[in-house]
Amino acid sequence: MTGRFPSAPSIDRTRPDVAVVGAGPIGLAIAWRCAARGLRVVVHDPAPGSGASAVAAGMLAPVAEAYFGERQLTELLLASAARWPTFTEELAEATGTDIGYRTEGTLLVGLTGDDLAEARRLWAYQQGLGLPVTPLRPSELRDREPALAPRVRGGALAPTDHQVDPRLLVPALRTAAQRAGAALVPHGVRHLSDVDAGVTVVAAGCGSAALTGLPVRQVKGQILRLRAPGGVAPGFRHVIRGYADGEHVYLVPRADGEVVLGATVEERSDTTVTAGAVQRLLRAGVDLLPELAEYDLVEAVAGLRPGTPDNAPILGPLPGRPDVLAATGHHRHGIVLTPITADLIADLLLTGVPDPLLAPFRPDRFAGAAADGGPEPTMKGDLWS
Ligand SMILES: Cc1cc2nc3c(=O)[nH]c(=O)nc-3n(C[C@H](O)[C@H](O)[C@H](O)COP(=O)(O)OP(=O)(O)OC[C@H]3O[C@@H](n4cnc5c(N)ncnc54)[C@H](O)[C@@H]3O)c2cc1C
Repeated sequence: MTGRFPSAPSIDRTRPDVAVVGAGPIGLAIAWRCAARGLRVVVHDPAPGSGASAVAAGMLAPVAEAYFGERQLTELLLASAARWPTFTEELAEATGTDIGYRTEGTLLVGLTGDDLAEARRLWAYQQGLGLPVTPLRPSELRDREPALAPRVRGGALAPTDHQVDPRLLVPALRTAAQRAGAALVPHGVRHLSDVDAGVTVVAAGCGSAALTGLPVRQVKGQILRLRAPGGVAPGFRHVIRGYADGEHVYLVPRADGEVVLGATVEERSDTTVTAGAVQRLLRAGVDLLPELAEYDLVEAVAGLRPGTPDNAPILGPLPGRPDVLAATGHHRHGIVLTPITADLIADLLLTGVPDPLLAPFRPDRFAGAAADGGPEPTMKGDLWS
């Protein structure tokens, strides 16, 4: 292993170069990229793939999710989305798996006049950033998706916002990581001091806060899965994101007939499914796409997004701990951000030089965060200097 980490020139062949804590999409993709580049990698997780990714919709939506005041995050989302075609190909080569990557694009719609006005404010902001959001006349909208309700007042196309199926992605990443030589250890990590490796990468989603003291909080999302009757594909092809009487929902069609309908965003840490949330999601979904009323409701579940105070991920060495890297806090964007997180963290591990893209997402932007028992924050002379 090369680079500027404390144990970089290790000659101990039994000690891993890299221990990854967490086998969600982020940890597994980092493990894959590192192992494929010759590092000895161990991944610790008592329940791989059981975090937020187990329920996630899999939208790759840097344009539709370009929100006011999140410019640097938008740049990272765009950079990661651009890597998805190659990432998918490489994963297919490594595993022979189809992960449900689809490129039909996303329709953004408003049910009522008020909904459309709200949507248009955001589109204007997104267009101001130069992002591809093309307003469509109602007739053009229905030409693209005849299944949309006649009541839908208007919409736009975000052609570069795509989708992948996280329930196919995570097992594929696990296979790729293992085939590249990474070892999976089926145990949780309670303290970072229990991990023996040259560098530890904390990619434990919501579990990252307890390990590092970083401000990662749980943000609950309730989400439904429906299935088109008769085993056929859903009657629409685009991802549809809509405002319906003030409710913001998305509908993600899969080739096998599944439709993912989500999701709530709640500042809570339980995973209870509530009748009220199911009712609101179904009402908004059926208002936008009436045929959903005939679909089977096959799953209602809640997951916990690893949120941060500024909604952006935390990427890089912990303050004063160049031997511990955070790759966490991906909140609503962990699927779309998987390729770039994995590539930039693997590059950092191998070269010791942080890509400039990482700079806005350093852990030390949150004052007072420290690893368990680690020294107080000071990045001087560390990797960011
Ligand atoms: C309802 C919902 C919808 C979503 N939709 C999308 C979407 O459309 N697009 C998108 O990009 N993102 C979406 N997300 C967000 C996305 O799921 C997360 O950002 C992503 O899963 C984060 O990946 P991760 O690997 O960091 O964490 P997780 O997927 O949460 O995985 C963390 C892993 O760490 C393990 N772990 C935890 N603590 C420890 C420990 N102490 N020791 C060892 N292992 C540990 C867990 O067992 C788990 O396997 C959605 C999330 C939710 C809840």
